[in-house]
Amino acid sequence: MMELKIQLIPTGEIILPPGKNGENFCHNCKVVASDGVRAMMESALTARDRVGVQDFVLLENYTSEAAFIENLRKRFKENLIYTYIGSVLVSVNPYKDLEIYTKNHMERYRGVNFYEVSPHIYAVADNSYRSMRTEGKDQCILISGESGAGKTEASKKILQYYAITCPASEQVQTVKDRLLQSNPVLEAFGNAKTLRNDNSSRFGKYMDIQFDFKGAPVGGHIINYLLEKSRVVHQNHGERNFHIFYQLIEGGEEDLLRRLGLERSPLQYQYLVKCLIRSVFINCIYVIKALRISDSHNSYFPFSVFCYGGEEGSACITSDTQIKYLARLLGVNGSVLTEALTHKKIIAKGEELMSPLNLEQASSARDALSKAVYGRTFTWLVNKINASLAYTDDSHKHYSVIGLLDIYGFEVFQHNSFEQFCINYCNEKLQQLFIELTLKSEQEEYEAEGITWEPVQYFNNKIICDLVEEKFKGIISILDEECLRPGDASDFTFLEKLEDTVGGHPHFVTHKLADGKTRKVMGREEFRLLHYAGEVNYNVNGFLDKNNDLLFRNLKEVMVMSENNILTQCFDREELSDKKRPDTAATQFKASLAKLMEILMSKEPSYVRCIKPNDSKQAGRFDEVLIRHQVKYLGLMENLRVRRAGFAYRRRYEVFLQRYKSLCPDTWPNWQGKLADGVSTLVKHLGYKPEEYKLGRSKIFIRFPKTLFATEDALETR
Ligand code: ADP
Ligand code: MG
Repeated sequence: MMELKIQLIPTGEIILPPGKNGENFCHNCKVVASDGVRAMMESALTARDRVGVQDFVLLENYTSEAAFIENLRKRFKENLIYTYIGSVLVSVNPYKDLEIYTKNHMERYRGVNFYEVSPHIYAVADNSYRSMRTEGKDQCILISGESGAGKTEASKKILQYYAITCPASEQVQTVKDRLLQSNPVLEAFGNAKTLRNDNSSRFGKYMDIQFDFKGAPVGGHIINYLLEKSRVVHQNHGERNFHIFYQLIEGGEEDLLRRLGLERSPLQYQYLVKCLIRSVFINCIYVIKALRISDSHNSYFPFSVFCYGGEEGSACITSDTQIKYLARLLGVNGSVLTEALTHKKIIAKGEELMSPLNLEQASSARDALSKAVYGRTFTWLVNKINASLAYTDDSHKHYSVIGLLDIYGFEVFQHNSFEQFCINYCNEKLQQLFIELTLKSEQEEYEAEGITWEPVQYFNNKIICDLVEEKFKGIISILDEECLRPGDASDFTFLEKLEDTVGGHPHFVTHKLADGKTRKVMGREEFRLLHYAGEVNYNVNGFLDKNNDLLFRNLKEVMVMSENNILTQCFDREELSDKKRPDTAATQFKASLAKLMEILMSKEPSYVRCIKPNDSKQAGRFDEVLIRHQVKYLGLMENLRVRRAGFAYRRRYEVFLQRYKSLCPDTWPNWQGKLADGVSTLVKHLGYKPEEYKLGRSKIFIRFPKTLFATEDALETR
């Protein structure tokens, strides 16, 4: 008589226990059962047809992309937005609120093994948490996908899960609250409405959550990447500036607006467009206070917007009132500021001269100042949040970490510029990490351990990373070289230099062909990179300026004299004395990515792959073409192939033996012989079947998670 466990989940999903070979139970088992059970089995079988499989590993035709997409579609139609590929979670944005994030749901996933419950973001969160607790290894959860796919929502859900389910004391409660509250503040300043997402994060974010020895969250730390500062001064049609401006103008108290010299209507401002979303500024201020960002009580963020006017030729500022407000907010002298905004300091024959700027130059000086003030204030804000999240208890210095990475996905627009170049470079690096941490290391480990298996072919994108970042001859080096070269350097000479240096690279294309002819389909101002995820044309216009990211020296001089509490922390006097140029934007980004890779490499990764079902932010619409594209560049098919070929778990012999030796009288309390023999004795005693595991040189490899889970259960119920 065989025991059949069927779980009915309120979402309508039916969980069938995996069969002997990890295949879905109903697949090839004949069950003799009572009528009641048979009825349940039958409904389970039709349910399986209807809702697909909850782990792509269980797909019969696992190499077929069509079968993969069909399975996604079935589940999506049933509001089952989560599916696994082994331990990787694939999530499709439902664009509607599903009742799957309640406290009850959290309880259901807490401390429960992956395969016993339906796929969920909480299962990933819980699994990382338990790995951290039982193995003492730092974890990270990497969330990827294109804009609007649900990355930020997923990271918030994970954070909420920890905030609610982890143990807490009074002090820990404060930390939990602050971890949660850091989100709305960062979103106010770093998110904006774009065509793709009404609440699009315009910066990359990596957040460490620190846990003490009891498993309670005790602190956190955030690193921000490449805020899209250009949005402060310009937005594409249909998009908006950062939320905070609208929140301030619509929701700010009268008194505050008066002090800032601001009008209620966004139409008043060149930098803003009409907003359609109601504001929650009050919330934001409240949260800033709760986070104890104390300087902000009496020194408000220096936001204001002003206009230029005047004759052709040299620019002047037409409104005294505006410049007065601005000078007051920036904490600088009004006439010095006026001069700095309309003149440029040049040195001729050893003498300093102020040369007037024309309208265009003055506008770009103003824009550069706005971007610098906003960008630096944002970093200041992140630092303040970090100070408020810092783990201060000296008595327990040791803590474990779960890192959450929510960073821009691969971007391909009609017009791609420096920003997309950086973002896509970042995605190449993350793909490298994925290859290093999963594909490559998986294969190498089997080889090292002498385990036989089918190698899986995959494309190693290191060649593209090198093309971008290699010293001296990579694209960033060439860009920097042009940025530093005095004289006639321009975006165009940059492109020419690229053609000369990397023109023959297999992943680089321009309109020029090797035989001197031109490629008609490409613009003369473009270069194309053949990314691992697809081709992208980049327009070089603005590359040099954006990479230089410079403020005129006299504007910098004004800013370092600021008496505003916040700005004095943002503009350092040292910047003026420092003869060395600051690193360019691309080089800074490259360095911060290298650091990020180092952080992530030291942790055990889990992956959440987010998919956007359609381009119109609509519930229920499954756009197959769009989804197929994402399945491709998220590398999901490759992932699945590796997963099917491999072993889910591996443990070093001594670790495995130490943990489970009490389950077998021959290994308890101590095994005297060779470790491998001890493990072999132990697993035979536990009833592992030969196809369920392999013994390597130093580790045991376990094919299916359920095998290990059963052993864990045995430990608990002993
Ligand atoms: P990304 O960070 O990948 O650009 P977001 O996480 O901001 O995307 O998601 C975009 C929008 O999609 C959200 O504002 C929300 O309306 C919707 N959304 C995303 N994930 C979910 C979810 N799990 N349930 C319901 N709606 C979601
Ligand atoms: Mg986001």
